[in-house]
Amino acid sequence: MAYMGPSYGRGVTVRVDTEQGAYPDANSLLVRGTAETLVIDTSLSLVGRTPPADVVLVSHAHEDHIAALEDYETPVHIHMEDLAALRSRAIMVEGYGLPPDAAGHNDLMLRDRFHVQGRPGAMGFEDGTVFDLGGRTVTVVHLPGHTAGHCGFLIEPDGFLFVADIDLTSFGPYYGDVGSSLTDYEASMRRCREIDARWYGTAHPKGVIEGAAGFSERLEAFAGVMMQRDATLLAFLSEPRTVDEIADHRLVHRPHVEGPLYCRSSGGPRCSTWTGWSARVESRRSNQGSSAPPMPVHHMGTQSRRRDTLDIYSSSRCTVGKQAQGVASHDCKAAP
Ligand SMILES: [Zn+2]
Repeated sequence: MAYMGPSYGRGVTVRVDTEQGAYPDANSLLVRGTAETLVIDTSLSLVGRTPPADVVLVSHAHEDHIAALEDYETPVHIHMEDLAALRSRAIMVEGYGLPPDAAGHNDLMLRDRFHVQGRPGAMGFEDGTVFDLGGRTVTVVHLPGHTAGHCGFLIEPDGFLFVADIDLTSFGPYYGDVGSSLTDYEASMRRCREIDARWYGTAHPKGVIEGAAGFSERLEAFAGVMMQRDATLLAFLSEPRTVDEIADHRLVHRPHVEGPLYCRSSGGPRCSTWTGWSARVESRRSNQGSSAPPMPVHHMGTQSRRRDTLDIYSSSRCTVGKQAQGVASHDCKAAP
C-alpha cells in the first residue's frame, strides 16, 4: 500500500491522517535511505497499511505512538528510559499512575483500542545514537519531560527535526505521567530551540513547521501555557488553600472534563508531577519575594494526594474551548 503524505527533503514523508494527527491518532514518519527504510512512530492511521520498513523507532511509550507496532516484525528501538514500558503493557499502565480500578480499564483500552501487546524484544537507544540508512542519518535527541524517555529525531541531510509530543498545541505541555518532569520538559524545549533545522515535525495536529523562527515563536507560546498555569496557581495561593481547593480550581482542564479513567472519584496518583509542580511554584514564589503563605501540604496523605493531584491533571484527552478561570485555552488534547 502506498504511503501517502507530504514529503520533506528527499527522504522524509509524514503520514498525516484525516484528523491531522489528533489523539488517538498521531503523525508517523517514513524515512528512506539508500540502504534502509525506517518508520518513526506507528500510529493508528498505519494499522492495516503499514509501509515496509527495516527498522522502527518509537518517540516514547504512549499508546498513540505504537498502535500499529504489531504489524511490524522488524527491530524496534526506543529510549532506555521508556524501554520497560514498551516491552510490557503492565509497566506502561503503571506509568500513568492510576489506582487499580482505573488502571484495569486503561489496560483494556490499550489492548483493545490501541492493539498494545508489549514488545519484549524492543531495544534501547540513548541520546546521540545514530541510525545510518545510507546517505541519510537519523540521530536521537533525548527530550525528556513528557515521559522520561521521550525523544526527538534529527534527520540529515534533510534538516528535519521530529519533536514528537512537544506538539505545540494550545493545550500546552502535557506532563501528567509518573515519570514526567516539568524541569526536564523546560530543558527539552530549550534544547529544541537550539537545533537549527529546516523543518520541525510534531506528532499531532500542528504538523510540520518550516523554519527555526516560526518554530521558536510557536514553542514560546506553547511553553507560555505552563508559565500561565504557574501564575494562576500563585495568584490562587494568595491566601491559604487546601489541596482540595486547589484541585477544585481546575488549573489544567475545564471543570466538566472528566473521563472514565481520570474522574475525581476514581482517584489516581500524579504525585511526582504534583510534587514537582508545587516545589517549582514555591521556588518561583520565593524568588519573587512573595509574602503569600506556603503551599498547604499538611493534608497530603497518600489517598488525598492521589485524588487531588488527579483532579488537577484529570486527563480526559479531548477538551475543547477555553479553560475555566482563564487558566489556559486548549484544543483537543493531542497527547499523550
Ligand atoms: Zn505522549
